[in-house]
Amino acid sequence: MPKTATTAHNEKETTSTINIDAKPVEKSRVDEVDLDNPGFGEVFSDHMLSVQYKDGSWQQPEIKPYGTFEISPAMCSLHYGQAVFEGLKAFKNQDGSIKIFRPEQHHKRFNRSCQRLCIPEMSKEVFMEGLKQLIELDQQWVPQKQGNALYIRPFVFATDNYLSVKASSSYQFFIITSPVGAYYEEGIDPVSLITSDKYARSVPGGVGHVKTPGNYAASLLPAKKAKQKGFTQVLWLDANERRYIEEVGTMNIFFLIDDVLVTPPLKGAILDGITRRSVIQLARDWGITVNERPITIDEVFEKAEAGHLREVFGTGTAAVISPVGKIQHKWQSITINDHKIGPFAQKLYDTITGIQDGRGKDRFNWMTTAVE
Ligand SMILES: *Cc1c(COP(=O)(O)O)cnc(C)c1O
Repeated sequence: MPKTATTAHNEKETTSTINIDAKPVEKSRVDEVDLDNPGFGEVFSDHMLSVQYKDGSWQQPEIKPYGTFEISPAMCSLHYGQAVFEGLKAFKNQDGSIKIFRPEQHHKRFNRSCQRLCIPEMSKEVFMEGLKQLIELDQQWVPQKQGNALYIRPFVFATDNYLSVKASSSYQFFIITSPVGAYYEEGIDPVSLITSDKYARSVPGGVGHVKTPGNYAASLLPAKKAKQKGFTQVLWLDANERRYIEEVGTMNIFFLIDDVLVTPPLKGAILDGITRRSVIQLARDWGITVNERPITIDEVFEKAEAGHLREVFGTGTAAVISPVGKIQHKWQSITINDHKIGPFAQKLYDTITGIQDGRGKDRFNWMTTAVE
């Protein structure tokens, strides 16, 4: 046993020293940005990580100034959407260190998405080292203000230039980063949701469980219609029967029914959220029963009417926890916890954001240090 452990340790050390060429900017743009109020995904840090795939392998990674690049109008991902992305965050702690929330999990999910889209996988070493070196170089871009963070967007797209439908032989991978504000400037405001009997987000066997751009393009029209009716988001039901609850907008969903936390199971049509995983782990650690099981919209309404539905909330990297105050289904609607955030959602929000910005103890080793 000790022998294997030593070998594994050595391997980790040798493979993690990858060489990344960096061409730093001559002058940083960070002074032009209000890091206390950066918006969400509107401004981008000085540098980006770029890796090209050609001749059957990923080439040397480089860090270069953030900027535009030229493409051919025939570039196949523009036409057929062979592309994948991720979204994660880095935080500045009180002691000045910078930490990333669960990057290995995001890397694993990135590769699972790539497999589904016939895109060559990215090595853990390049993903992790690239991320750390990029953030180290752009460390002044990580906001200090509590609740703000550096949003990290790794993505990959097919770059062959042709109009036949087939997997590309070349790809471009980037990581860009963007300082972002807290999703809720003045406390957490519950969202209102409406189901759709016309549209579905994804089908079993499709690509609903992976982060590929087409899913989000397809959600724009239903989301627009929900907004026109005065709702924040669509509450997605399953494609076959329009009975089982799947997700909310681009978040996973949880129901606190009496003392049990219920969330739909990952069955191929639902995104395997890292925040979802974190909430399940925390709740179980607190001694709460968590059921990953199918739940119908009718059951939610019945539980609400019988007084058993205590809280409903969405989970995702951007908002962390997003309480649901109202759900409309067909001609009926329910109001949850007086349209206010409940104590359980608040405790989850405080605990997760506390772990992220260092106010709380990182008991599960969720944080990876980018800058000491
Ligand atoms: C990204 C995403 C989520 C949330 O995943 P996190 O890893 O928690 O950010 C949930 N649903 C969809 C459709 C998503 O794209």
